[in-house]
Amino acid sequence: MFDVAKIREDFPILKREVNGYPLIYFDNAATTQKPKVVIDAIVDYYSNYNANIHRGVHTLSQEATEAYENARKKIQTHFNIAKSHEVIFTSGTTHGINLVATGFTSLLKKDDEIIVSALEHHSNIVPWQMLCESTGAILKVIPMSLEGELDMDTYDKLLNTKTKIVFVNHVSNTLGTINPIQEIIDKAHVVNAAVLIDGAQATPHIKPDLQALNCDFYVCSSHKLCGPTGVGMLYGKEEWLQKLPPYQGGGEMIAEVTFEKTTYAGLPHKFEAGTPNICGGIAFGAALDYMNHLGFDAISQYEDELIQYATAQLLAIDGLKIYGTAKHKTSVISFNIEGIHPYDIGTILDKLGIAVRTGRHCAQPIMDFYKIPGTVRASFSFYNTKEEVDKLVEGVKRAKSMLQ
Ligand SMILES: *Cc1c(COP(=O)(O)O)cnc(C)c1O
Repeated sequence: MFDVAKIREDFPILKREVNGYPLIYFDNAATTQKPKVVIDAIVDYYSNYNANIHRGVHTLSQEATEAYENARKKIQTHFNIAKSHEVIFTSGTTHGINLVATGFTSLLKKDDEIIVSALEHHSNIVPWQMLCESTGAILKVIPMSLEGELDMDTYDKLLNTKTKIVFVNHVSNTLGTINPIQEIIDKAHVVNAAVLIDGAQATPHIKPDLQALNCDFYVCSSHKLCGPTGVGMLYGKEEWLQKLPPYQGGGEMIAEVTFEKTTYAGLPHKFEAGTPNICGGIAFGAALDYMNHLGFDAISQYEDELIQYATAQLLAIDGLKIYGTAKHKTSVISFNIEGIHPYDIGTILDKLGIAVRTGRHCAQPIMDFYKIPGTVRASFSFYNTKEEVDKLVEGVKRAKSMLQ
């Protein structure tokens, strides 16, 4: 039994009001709220053992180092990663993708091909376009259907021996589609292409087994799964992380520095230049502990019920259209009402204390595909309730009667 009322007690922010109404937070795809255990981990670090890591002989530095490295191990265990040095701390998904895309500059030549999907966040498009500009490689796109599913037949045709890397999201932040990443990975490996999975939107709902998936890179952001902003993880297979050059130079990532020649540190430090977000890493670990305590099976089962309920309620509104009706989807409902700008709906919902996202959701190609300026996006977390969905539906109806 998933006790939502009890779980909501863990989130201090859910007690606040917005514009005189209890906060209803449906912008979880942008960032999630934080449970008290995560906030406590942050306060505890700065109150009791703040110090720089990996360098000091003193007690505080040792405690901080141990907590930070312990967080790395929690990430390793959570994602079933073979070696802890295959876990690289980043500032988030965007940083992880840029690290890999920039690293590939030295591995690609003119007319090599790289493959993206039509369903991506700008974070998983732009760094690769920059890679193409600097190397002369060619970007190919797996198209999508009206339902928001990838066209896998075309993917088969795009793959060939010139393909060097494929990068797709596990779950679309705009439509909620769960992509067939196992098939994408397996087929890419037949032509020896590497695969990077953007897990930013999947990791709050699904616990991926990275050894079973056998992807080459997987990236995510702590803040989308109840942890703090400014920290995330890049998983890379050891052989790939050895092959890629360092991303940034500085302290921590070196073995020896002289003015004649510098040698680089081993993994994972090679990719972790400078003082990291120590507190963020530790709190990321606390967030994973919290979510594992709830259990990802229970979380996804509850969220699936919620999204099915919300979909049925919203579709009952005359003139409302949902974008993204894939067979496998999670946590996101993107919609519009005929004749009304999404921004206007979002503004009226905010007056009622309901937080949704409006606009292009960092995925302009999807909006262009549907020929719309944007959508209203309600995105769900395990702390949302059916009562909140009812309020959302009432709010959308109110907005419709005011604006039409
Ligand atoms: C949020 C998101 C990103 C970007 O994450 P940041 O934390 O802003 O770096 C990338 N891809 C997807 C699918 C996302 O949902």
